Amino acid sequence: MKQKKFILQENEIPTQWYNILADMPNKPLPPIHPATKQPLTWEDLAHIFPEECSKQELNMTDRFIDIPEEVLDRYKYYRSTPLVRAYALEQAIGTPAHIYFKNESVNPLGSHKINSALPQCYYCKQEGTTNVTTETGAGQWGAALAYAAKSFGLEAAVYQVKISMQQKPYRSSIMRTFGAAVTGSPSMSTRAGKDILTVNPMHNGSLGTAISEAVELARTTPHCKYVLGSVLNHVALHQTIIGLEAEKQMEQAGEYPDMVIACFGGGSNFGGIAFPFLRHNILDGKTTEFIAAEPESCPKLTRGKFQYDFGDEAGYTPLLPMYTLGHQFKPANIHAGGLRYHGAGMIVSQLIKDKMMRGVDIPQLESFDAGMLFARTEGIIPAPESSHAIAAAIREAKKCIETGEEKVILFNLSGHGLIDMTAYEQYINGDLVNYQLTDEQIAKNLENN
Ligand SMILES: *Cc1c(COP(=O)(O)O)cnc(C)c1O
Repeated sequence: MKQKKFILQENEIPTQWYNILADMPNKPLPPIHPATKQPLTWEDLAHIFPEECSKQELNMTDRFIDIPEEVLDRYKYYRSTPLVRAYALEQAIGTPAHIYFKNESVNPLGSHKINSALPQCYYCKQEGTTNVTTETGAGQWGAALAYAAKSFGLEAAVYQVKISMQQKPYRSSIMRTFGAAVTGSPSMSTRAGKDILTVNPMHNGSLGTAISEAVELARTTPHCKYVLGSVLNHVALHQTIIGLEAEKQMEQAGEYPDMVIACFGGGSNFGGIAFPFLRHNILDGKTTEFIAAEPESCPKLTRGKFQYDFGDEAGYTPLLPMYTLGHQFKPANIHAGGLRYHGAGMIVSQLIKDKMMRGVDIPQLESFDAGMLFARTEGIIPAPESSHAIAAAIREAKKCIETGEEKVILFNLSGHGLIDMTAYEQYINGDLVNYQLTDEQIAKNLENN
């Protein structure tokens, strides 16, 4: 069975990121300061985030932003990443659709997160910051951050969601290998953690609790900045390297996607692959569809509410306009740890509100069915998060069997699953279940918001 790969030469790798804020017909509403209720300025953001990232966060005018030379050098350790035509998967499904995937699992850390970890740490270094702190769920972001911090000579402190730390112990080892200090969240080391544990001593942790703890550490430690692996505009900006490369590679393949699909936690890998193509819908009249695949157990895009909400459980972050299930929503313990987040990034939220993109919900078992089929056909064990994108792509490819359409489907393989074998083991043993939410549960959580 043949497989076809498209790889860019070093001089073809994009040297700028794409800032979709410049082209959006309706800009996102501004993030709001929780105390003053005023729109945030970049100076407000720069109290906890790197200055350059704070500026990028609110940049509505520059369509393209230069990638710093030193970041490009680091990108070239693993970029370009391959664009692959998945013939074997197509054949197994029996679809006339052409399925392509962008393989972001081929870097030292195994997920797309490194694309933003590198510039964030670079800017910290430039600005005289010595320490960075962050949260991590399944550990992909923490691992990428630990590596990037070490690359640029920074100290990293990572709060990892407790349940994920137990499910994926090797990720903590990876972070420690790169020199990061790792703490399970909620912990007793911060005010926020103590408060959460006082109310619920058995709290499993969530990205929301870990963010609260990391933000608190950044606020109370000199020369320490908080960096975030998803949700925010500047993170999605850095991830557009994925879509910009894919654009060139699809051109090499002589095709253009009818559909672009990615899994959705906070929106960075989805935005990263989607925005460069969406710009051609906005500017050049293309009609590509954009599908964000979220877990059925954490359905903020399809069943959440568009409103201002906090990014974290304790309510330390600015208020962000987004689709949310409520900042105290406790997602089920699914294995796709990177998708267990209550809210969606501001840009994607606005674009979904404007019907320029849509969400789709994938049950846990369907995601693993898809991941297994992908592993057995393409030879790559996908991250449980990425399997949601694969499942959504398979659904669309199956629709093409009925209609006979040769649609071109492009999805992002956000990471590999080699550190997630416990999850596969449980699936193979028949020990995994689906988690559904009733409308009442969702409404009740939003009411308490
Ligand atoms: C973190 C992560 C995700 C989800 O985060 P987004 O910001 O929505 O991309 C998806 N896949 C993998 C492999 C991840 O590590």
